[in-house]
Amino acid sequence: MPGSTRIVRETDTSMSHVREPITQVFGSQVFSDAVMRERLPKNIYKAIRSTIDDGEPLDSSIANVIANAMKDWAIEKGATHFCHWFQPMTGMTAEKHDSFISPTPDGRTIMEFSGKELIKGEPDASSFPSGGLRATFEARGYTAWDCTSPVFVKENGNNMTMYIPSAFCSYTSEALDKKTPLLRSMDALNKQSMRVLRASGNTTSKRVSATLGPEQEYFLVDAKFVEKRLDLILAGRTLFGAYAPKGQELEDHYFGAVHERVANFMDDLNRELWKLGVSAKTQHNEVAPGQYELAPVFTTVNVATDHNQLTMDAMQKIALRHGMVCLLHEKPFAGVNGSGKHNNWSLSTDDGLNLLDPGTTPHDNMLFLLMLCAVIRAVDKYSSLLRATVATSGNDHRLGANEAPPAIVSIFVGDQLADVLEQIEAGDAKSSKQGKDLKLGVSTLPPLPSDCTDRNRTSPFAFTGNKFEFRMVGSGQSTAGPTFVLNTMVADILCEIADELEGTKDVASTAQKICQRIVKEHKRIIFNGDNYTQAWAKEAEARGLPNIRNAVDGLKGMLGPDVVKLFTTHKILSKHELHARYEIIQERYCKEINIEALTMLDMAKRQILPVAIEYSGIVGNAVAGVKAAGVDADVHTKVLRNLCTLTSSLQTGITELQTAVEKASSKSNVEKQSEAYRDLVVPAMGKVRTVVDELEVSIDAKHWPLPTYAEMLFLR
Ligand code: ADP
Ligand code: MG
Repeated sequence: MPGSTRIVRETDTSMSHVREPITQVFGSQVFSDAVMRERLPKNIYKAIRSTIDDGEPLDSSIANVIANAMKDWAIEKGATHFCHWFQPMTGMTAEKHDSFISPTPDGRTIMEFSGKELIKGEPDASSFPSGGLRATFEARGYTAWDCTSPVFVKENGNNMTMYIPSAFCSYTSEALDKKTPLLRSMDALNKQSMRVLRASGNTTSKRVSATLGPEQEYFLVDAKFVEKRLDLILAGRTLFGAYAPKGQELEDHYFGAVHERVANFMDDLNRELWKLGVSAKTQHNEVAPGQYELAPVFTTVNVATDHNQLTMDAMQKIALRHGMVCLLHEKPFAGVNGSGKHNNWSLSTDDGLNLLDPGTTPHDNMLFLLMLCAVIRAVDKYSSLLRATVATSGNDHRLGANEAPPAIVSIFVGDQLADVLEQIEAGDAKSSKQGKDLKLGVSTLPPLPSDCTDRNRTSPFAFTGNKFEFRMVGSGQSTAGPTFVLNTMVADILCEIADELEGTKDVASTAQKICQRIVKEHKRIIFNGDNYTQAWAKEAEARGLPNIRNAVDGLKGMLGPDVVKLFTTHKILSKHELHARYEIIQERYCKEINIEALTMLDMAKRQILPVAIEYSGIVGNAVAGVKAAGVDADVHTKVLRNLCTLTSSLQTGITELQTAVEKASSKSNVEKQSEAYRDLVVPAMGKVRTVVDELEVSIDAKHWPLPTYAEMLFLR
């Protein structure tokens, strides 16, 4: 995550404590369904369940009872404070703590917490970005309890606080956060999916939820290196750094044995997350040296988003305990793999049906085909909007930059479904290709049933068995943005489909016609080959698929009239709210690049240039000394000349970057500003970096002020 990295060394005592069994640890800090059932009177429990499950309004007397039970539970857990925990447009989380104490007239104190305090908070919070939705002089902002995501108690140093997941809106009830549109999109998706379910004969399911399992990639770097690098501290990525002699070419890190120090970190991380009910499940080394991944078990998009925020937070906090810094930036190191977040997404009903599960014979699974086609049409129709959801300054170093995934949105469906879709296009789908047993040729190994379709690692939007995996999301991003947009896009297409199905007597043949039409119209978005290649970029162009290479252009995908219509029709965002978001994200892009440029200037002027000058002096003296001794100083002179040329280029580069930053920051509006940051500042930063990286390999190592790539990537 671009942003500051605070380095605090804490002594690690975690290894000495007696380990409780995981089954006892898991969810121990969560006011979960089980805790509610145990602690709330039956009628109150029923009331809160129907609020959570069916969106029934919550009576204030009921809220009071729940608040009281929550408070007692939290105090037993050692909590002294509570906070509404929300997700402003910064992409991070925010919290304002209040203690439970309430003084009595006789000078003592009692612990109190009312239903009103549970349901609503009013942080001043006027400094969060609002994109003009409110002025600071009218600073009222409200947080509202989101009862669909459970309350938990979290430890921070010695303090224990009860966290209440909340939405955040303005006095005029406009959304100021990432969660509100996500919740609204869940409703829209539920409504439209249920219409399609009912129209196609399902009478049992009551609710459809979008599910999310975000795989989170990250880097770990020893804190002692980070302390010496202002770029990592302030920007979360290296702004300088010559390539190390070794990178990821041996592929010896990917899925390799986890280093003991990292294993200890992962162990602490898992325990912390499990306590909070986050089902951290899979962990492994990733492609780049120093890169790792964590994947949780999926859950509803809303809870998964909260959990992903907790995960990113815990990763950073716990890394510090182990003397390391966790980098969540999309590209902390040039030339090595970047980090993303793979958003695994699907739709499931309250009675356990995964609507994107093809079953063994997808060709005759009408509901699945409708859902699949809905996603295909949604992604093609709104591909620019989907691209906009991952448009960040950090992701610009990753998308399309010679690593997966490219900046062109396309869908991988695999052989089996590609075949079924072809049959649908031609008329009627009659068969589904089946996988065969894999024979390994070793008698002691069991035959493995093969999946019907191989995986594709390069696709930005891949069907992976019974879910879609959206891989363009940046590692530091909140999952809320990409997810609420995906939910809304799909809801929109399901709405069209439901309209048609509800108006017909012959559902099966109408469904078939709908799918056929969608395949014909949108097959251009399907691509099952290697997305890395130039050939694909060319073919995509011929197919008319946009290849949007940078965030500034990417964000324009939020602006079309169809986008306004999409969000207003389904009551996700008003035109005003949408535009505010556009401004906030553009502004953020400018600020991030501005911070990077200023950090670069600071390091170049205060660390690199002085070293270059000092070292040229040393070499200059050597030249003079050698010459004075009457010996030929050719080599010394050559080295000196090279140093002086580079030093002079650095000076020029610094001046140019300074001018570029001044120009960009003085632009009158945010759109012009972001274009100037992209067109003037980013290239000027590139030039400074090239010279500095050249200097790094030209200057005596003991004079170089910055830890190198080799140290940061390979030393644990
Ligand atoms: P991989 O993509 O590496 O094969 P997995 O099958 O383990 O991984 O799944 C990766 C992620 O996808 C996990 O977080 C998992 O919980 C999530 N996932 C699996 N099924 C679903 C689903 N139906 N909806 C959303 N996420 C899912
Ligand atoms: Mg995956």
